[in-house]
Amino acid sequence: MEWDPKEADRGDVVDRRGAGGGSGVGTGGMGDLGGVLGDILGGGGGLGGGLGGGGASRGGSKAKKGGGIFGVLLMVAAMFVLPKILGSKGADVITSGMNLPQFPSAESADALPDEGRGSDAALPRSEDPDPELTDFANVIITDTNNVWAEQFQTSGKRYDRTKLVLYTGRTSTGCGEGLSQMGPFYCPADNQVYVDLGFFEELATRFGAAGDFAQAYVIAHEVGHHVQNVLGISEQVQRIEQQDPDQATGPESLSVRLELQADCLAGVWAHSRYERGQSDPAKRLDDGDIDEALDAASGVGDDAIQKSTTGSVNPEGFTHGTSAQRKRWFTAGYDSGSSDDCDTFNAPRL
Ligand SMILES: [Zn+2]
Repeated sequence: MEWDPKEADRGDVVDRRGAGGGSGVGTGGMGDLGGVLGDILGGGGGLGGGLGGGGASRGGSKAKKGGGIFGVLLMVAAMFVLPKILGSKGADVITSGMNLPQFPSAESADALPDEGRGSDAALPRSEDPDPELTDFANVIITDTNNVWAEQFQTSGKRYDRTKLVLYTGRTSTGCGEGLSQMGPFYCPADNQVYVDLGFFEELATRFGAAGDFAQAYVIAHEVGHHVQNVLGISEQVQRIEQQDPDQATGPESLSVRLELQADCLAGVWAHSRYERGQSDPAKRLDDGDIDEALDAASGVGDDAIQKSTTGSVNPEGFTHGTSAQRKRWFTAGYDSGSSDDCDTFNAPRL
């Protein structure tokens, strides 16, 4: 992808990497951030958490088509008639929703230094291991925010920009403590995307997705969760999950539908970038960019991750969708460029 660091002029990045916390920590594991945080990585293999599901098909067929992400709200709202199973709003969402698997290669989070959690000390450029990657991440968060601000404006809705928080190892978030082992994630409580840029190394080596557009897809996916949050979709899905915790995962679950929608929204952004690149060489996509995004979508599919971690595939443990589904929904958004085509909640086929 062609880009210029000057594109990033909106102050959409919060750099906490200079705070001294946990440098050199690998991202050897992956977490399921449950109903609180929208993460890029699927899991399965016994990972807990995830958003509620199973009820999606009940309301889906009756909902009007064509509402896209701005209409899906109605359909999700209709599902509030589901019997309330949980009396309380749930305990500490972080401890109930997050269930980190143990990976031999991952350092224990408790062993990490405490200093610097959550403080915003920017890393001096001279100490940045990859200043170009930092610039690129800045460009992507700025550009995705720009695109969604415009789309919301067109729909007569207000969009509040999200920020990309760069950190190393661990950091405080409005959703509890963020660890790089979780992979990139979005916290709806503070409206911010959290990325340890070290993940992109793992994206290339462990998940088989190298290249700048693979990285762009990851950030755009998390910004997709922000879009869902601004529209109130995430909150409604989370409430349903609290009412119906037994249906937190599975191939048709609301969690999977929410994640696939975020993939589709990433595709909508990619379409916009492609379109603008047609008339502006400084923003042109390179050959292979879309393939890089598709490789990333495929690499973080539930089935791919389950297979690599447990050796088998268990659809009941799906939280993010299969590799094929993630590619399909990214492509749906990329092909049309319209969020109207991202209504995974009413889609008869995921
Ligand atoms: Zn996600």
